[in-house]
Amino acid sequence: MSATPISRRVDRIKPSPSTTAAQRVRELKAEGHQILDLTVGEPDFDTPEHIKRAAIEAIHRGETKYTPVNGTPELREAISAKLAQRHGAHYSHAQIAVGGGAKQVIFLALMATVDTGDEVIIPAPYWVSYPDMVLANDGTPVVVDCGEDDGFKLTAPQLEAAITPRTRWVVLNAPSNPTGAAYNAAELRALADVLLAHPHVRVLTDEIYDEIWYGTGRAPTLVGVEPGLRDRVLVTNGVSKTYAMTGWRIGYGAGAADLIAAINKLQSQISSCPSSVSQAAAVAALTGEQDFIAGMVATYRGRRDELVRALEGVPGISCTTPQGGFYLFANCTGLLGRRTPQGAELGTDEELARYLLETQQVAVIHGAAYGSPGYFRISFATSNAVLAEAAARIARACAELS
Ligand code: PMP
Repeated sequence: MSATPISRRVDRIKPSPSTTAAQRVRELKAEGHQILDLTVGEPDFDTPEHIKRAAIEAIHRGETKYTPVNGTPELREAISAKLAQRHGAHYSHAQIAVGGGAKQVIFLALMATVDTGDEVIIPAPYWVSYPDMVLANDGTPVVVDCGEDDGFKLTAPQLEAAITPRTRWVVLNAPSNPTGAAYNAAELRALADVLLAHPHVRVLTDEIYDEIWYGTGRAPTLVGVEPGLRDRVLVTNGVSKTYAMTGWRIGYGAGAADLIAAINKLQSQISSCPSSVSQAAAVAALTGEQDFIAGMVATYRGRRDELVRALEGVPGISCTTPQGGFYLFANCTGLLGRRTPQGAELGTDEELARYLLETQQVAVIHGAAYGSPGYFRISFATSNAVLAEAAARIARACAELS
């Protein structure tokens, strides 16, 4: 027992379920179990060589000191160019914050704007961290259930109904973790019309999976569809997923200069700046050759198609094909209430996930962790061989239910 009690703020939140699941898999592997791990939230590709080289060269040039709080000018320039291409909007250096991963930028944005009891609208299924980040900043998550019939997306009437005078933010993550859903231009237009009528609400568009996209052309963005919302939108993104750089910890946010200044003020007291070496690597990532992304996406697409095909053949499981990202959110409501060969009833998605882990050594994350019971998430950022074997084992485990 420590001398000082742990704060209520920390007591209110839980550790990230994906980090916890990854830790459990590591422990089981260390005990000698052969786990087929479908929980991973990061690319199984290696960081490209030219990016690694840029980091090594930066070290040799002596770029091993603090940088400006909001990132090096070179990196902000590279981010600005990427944003111009993606959103058709120019962001100045004062409108861009760089942090230790998009996760840190999102947390700081909430810390900069949310006071006790302020509300943040979070469509479910959601990335596991949003509600806890809101709670950690004394805010109130307002979770809106977005059903599979609506493609797991927030509709304009749902948004309208959820907004109150206390609403500070609505979070839109597309392509989504965990569903891979993305909004089309008409859907964004309808959401934008609601937002234009409520000028006190900001929008966080988490675009971390934007390049991992299976559609033709590019997915539309809220700022692209309604430039009039630009000052109320915080775009967040990073190099983790697109460039297989999760461990380098570089993410960014772009939005109104006063919000960015507030984020930078907090960062100046929290971390001083992101890693100098990682920033040099991120410049190389954003400005270097981009061709390998298409190859990576083609690989993910092949895995996605195989996985959907394999799981669609399993009675009790159905899937909506993800449009982007590297996750599949499988519907398992058809399996709930059935019994294992040992006689235990599988009442929840969590029990199903445990059954798959214990009897088949297949690790998935249960849907309730994302605010949507009755589903489980599979990451296909893993080899075709692992996915094929895992799908076969899931089919076997389901066939044994009565
Ligand atoms: N948003 C979403 C939806 C994510 O899935 C992740 C990574 N799991 C992040 C943000 C954070 O990415 P990073 O901090 O590595 O930039």
